[in-house]
Amino acid sequence: MSVVIIGGGQAGLQVADSLRTEGYEGKIEVIAAESGLPYQRPPLSKDYLAPGKEPVPLPLRGASFFAEKNITLHEGVPALAIDRAEQKVKLTEGSLDYDHLVFATGARNRTLSCPGVSLPGIHGLKTLTDAKALHAALPTARNIVIIGAGFIGLEFAAAALAHGCDVTVLEFAPRPMGRALTPVMGDWFAAAHRSQGVDLRLGEGIDRFEPGTDGRVGAAVSTTGAFYPADLVLVGIGVQPNDTLASNAGLETSNGIVVDEMLRTADPAVLAIGDCASFPSAHGQLRLRLESVQNATDQARHAARTVLGADHPYTELPWFWSTQGPYRLQMAGLARPDDDMLVLGDQAAAKFSVLCFREGVLSAVESVNMAADHMAARKLLAAGARITRTQAEAEGFTLKAAGRAPVVPVPPCSAAPC
Ligand SMILES: Cc1cc2nc3c(=O)[nH]c(=O)nc-3n(C[C@H](O)[C@H](O)[C@H](O)COP(=O)(O)OP(=O)(O)OC[C@H]3O[C@@H](n4cnc5c(N)ncnc54)[C@H](O)[C@@H]3O)c2cc1C
Repeated sequence: MSVVIIGGGQAGLQVADSLRTEGYEGKIEVIAAESGLPYQRPPLSKDYLAPGKEPVPLPLRGASFFAEKNITLHEGVPALAIDRAEQKVKLTEGSLDYDHLVFATGARNRTLSCPGVSLPGIHGLKTLTDAKALHAALPTARNIVIIGAGFIGLEFAAAALAHGCDVTVLEFAPRPMGRALTPVMGDWFAAAHRSQGVDLRLGEGIDRFEPGTDGRVGAAVSTTGAFYPADLVLVGIGVQPNDTLASNAGLETSNGIVVDEMLRTADPAVLAIGDCASFPSAHGQLRLRLESVQNATDQARHAARTVLGADHPYTELPWFWSTQGPYRLQMAGLARPDDDMLVLGDQAAAKFSVLCFREGVLSAVESVNMAADHMAARKLLAAGARITRTQAEAEGFTLKAAGRAPVVPVPPCSAAPC
């Protein structure tokens, strides 16, 4: 028996680890396009960029992990093609046979196309190499322009402010992090970043970049014609899934590699997990593709069990965090813009939670600097607790206290109006 995993990132290493934990004794081979010991990405836009520190990448597993677990890591080796009929993965030199194949290929940054986008000084942030370049550039940068007010853009904005830079963020949408956050939370973050000193320009995209006298980027010109001096630019406009290998192998892709509730593609020997996978959601939306550590690790654990013959659906509750300067944002469940929202806590003190209700019942919680609320929300939502808006509005209600009480699950639709 042999399992081949394509991608040595968060999901790829976790599925390898979980296979061993679950008792799998066959061959495990991880194909990793990047060279070196696989590392954690989240710190790259946070601690790694902090001023005054010599940054050290955090490995996903220690160097001894691979030998101890008898897992072969092919590092710096991209998988080039899949032959599903022969159950082989083609590499630059030779190929690997598999009984099960797991795609954990992640996602790549979306690229901008506008005049001047190739000028030196314009960066993306996805890999350790990107983070090293930014860490080297930040101490001498003065005027920074960030394209896109998503998680990466705003985490980087906070890091750049800490280096004493002037920071402008251009965002086409009316709110930051608009695809993921409730309007209440998005508006709060817009004000919070402005209060820290970020010049956040909403409803304004990038038109072009212009060179300075040294031939490097010198300015960003926005869609309104405004001119922003820039000696360093970060483009953070989202990612797209690495699903071409799968589609070339005849597997269905649609914003990610399409899998069923067991995380299998239409070929039962092939699974896909993490940022590259489009999966049926057990939490409302029809299909999801999530970009988070939680999704990568939980799906990896599930995929390991699927490979070993389990056949229950993947139902883990999505959760996420982002640290933006003094603000620790945590989300449990997936909020929708049309959810009914209730704010608990103190927004002025940056310690509050937004509770989202769907059909009158708690469905998601976003928290700022309220770790206890977040942990309680995860517990309540994962257990299917029925917390109504009326309960949450009652004097003395806290998520933390509700999380300690015995959970009353949401009844099935046939037993209650829903
Ligand atoms: C800067 C940054 C900050 C982040 N911060 C947070 C955060 O605060 N919280 C959070 O929850 N998430 C965060 N994320 C997202 C999180 O890191 C990802 O969701 C997670 O890493 C996804 O895991 P994955 O294994 O699916 O993909 P990855 O970890 O990206 O791994 C995929 C790997 O597959 C490799 N690969 C692709 N194609 C091939 C091929 N053909 N052959 C071999 N290898 C291949 C890639 O090189 C890559 O190393 C952040 C991401 C970034 C970039």
